Amino acid sequence: MNIAVIGSGYVGLVAGACLAELGHDVVLVDNDPAKYAVLAAGVCPIHEAHLPELLDRHRGKRLSFANSLLEPVRASRAIFVAVGTPPTIEGEADLSYVESVAREIAAGVNDYKLVIGKSTVPVYTSEWVRRIMLLNGAPTELFDVASNPEFLREGTAVVDFLYPDRIVIGANSLAAANLLREIYRPMLDGSYYGRPDAIPGPSTAKVPPPLIATSTKSAELIKYASNAFLAMKISFINAVATICESVGADVDQVREGIGTDARIGSRFLFPGIGYGGSCFPKDLSAYRAVARECGYDFRLLEEVMRINDEQRQRFLRKVRGALWTLKGKRLGVLGLAFKDGTDDVRESPAIAVVEALVAEGCEIRAYDPAAAERAREILGDKVSYVASMYEAIEGADALLILTEWQEFKGLDLARVRKSLRYPIVIDGRNLLDAEVMRRHGFTYLSMGRPDIVSSGESLPATLADASEAGK
Ligand code: NAD
Repeated sequence: MNIAVIGSGYVGLVAGACLAELGHDVVLVDNDPAKYAVLAAGVCPIHEAHLPELLDRHRGKRLSFANSLLEPVRASRAIFVAVGTPPTIEGEADLSYVESVAREIAAGVNDYKLVIGKSTVPVYTSEWVRRIMLLNGAPTELFDVASNPEFLREGTAVVDFLYPDRIVIGANSLAAANLLREIYRPMLDGSYYGRPDAIPGPSTAKVPPPLIATSTKSAELIKYASNAFLAMKISFINAVATICESVGADVDQVREGIGTDARIGSRFLFPGIGYGGSCFPKDLSAYRAVARECGYDFRLLEEVMRINDEQRQRFLRKVRGALWTLKGKRLGVLGLAFKDGTDDVRESPAIAVVEALVAEGCEIRAYDPAAAERAREILGDKVSYVASMYEAIEGADALLILTEWQEFKGLDLARVRKSLRYPIVIDGRNLLDAEVMRRHGFTYLSMGRPDIVSSGESLPATLADASEAGK
């Protein structure tokens, strides 16, 4: 099928490459001249496993690029809209990019088109897109608007797209639903997974994936509700971790005890410095705004967000608790991306922690396997960016782990011990094994697990601890 994908960001680019992988002829459109130039030059602009391989495989054959949407829309039967939906100051979703694309698409409706929302949007957006297109001259019988929310995670986006837990298609007409089924047919009938050159999926993948057909409104709500629920799981375990710290329990044990209950599940139950990224923070506040507009005060979401913000403060208190004063301290930082496997630093809790430490007068040497360049766009030269884990650690007063990159697990701890000025490691992602850290003689502080203190003495209380205790 001829398909246009409008917006070639983290979602559009992955969706376009994967749709080409399924056998469709895809044009990826982006109106950002810099992004278009990079894509047209054959470069993959983001760090994402398997994506360079898919772009190389299909570029110039089933995949092409454009910087304006009129021609691609005219030539396509299906048009995916994957532009950004950033938050407004009030926390609602800014739908101006979606609206402007809808207006432009209307001008290109020369025969039947299915316009498919991939962006995460509030309920009623599909209906608004339909209305905008009608107002801009698209004949009513020549188009449908559907919703096909995307559940991929950055870092594993290609595999998530091709091996989803489910495909949700929200459509208000049979024609639209059937066209969406047709687009995903190689996945739904399992034929893609039998191909010798298929991108390999996880052993746990549901193959073929189930299809959930809904109305457009339900599909829009499924996406917001899913993200809100996942964020709630993270905040829940972070709150549990706080209690573990107060009573000297180990959150890993509690987590195992909770997560093995099939009704709960063990995924997204990892405590840390909180969730971030371009989705959870904005989608939670947009969902709360949607609820408010419907007359429902979704206070649970507020609490999820409050717990998340509090995690960063808790981590900063740990740093102060281990180092006493911060001004002039040199800290080695591992991780700037909002999660592992990506170069995305949007709403990264690691960046927020680094900014707070810089504001308190710390000198930061940071290493991230993929996100340093994007971090530089936010942090500028307030931080030194180094090319290896050990350069970040050399001569530092303490080591902080802020992103769960798996390569940090392979640290040579004897070398770390020698390189650090003081043997202090504060792990905001519970990436390292506390017992191993004890054996190597570190003071090791993590989230929701008992402190390991190298000298065998306990850390002196800080004023922050005292005020916490007095609450
Ligand atoms: P992004 O900012 O990386 O990409 C959006 C792209 O759209 C940009 O490249 C921008 O230049 C382009 N664009 C904007 N207006 C355009 C126009 N008129 N014509 C052509 N291109 C235009 O955003 P993203 O992370 O890919 O997210 C896109 C949407 O998908 C959002 O609604 C987001 O919530 C949702 N989503 C994101 C993820 C994720 O992990 N990033 C996962 C699921 C859903």
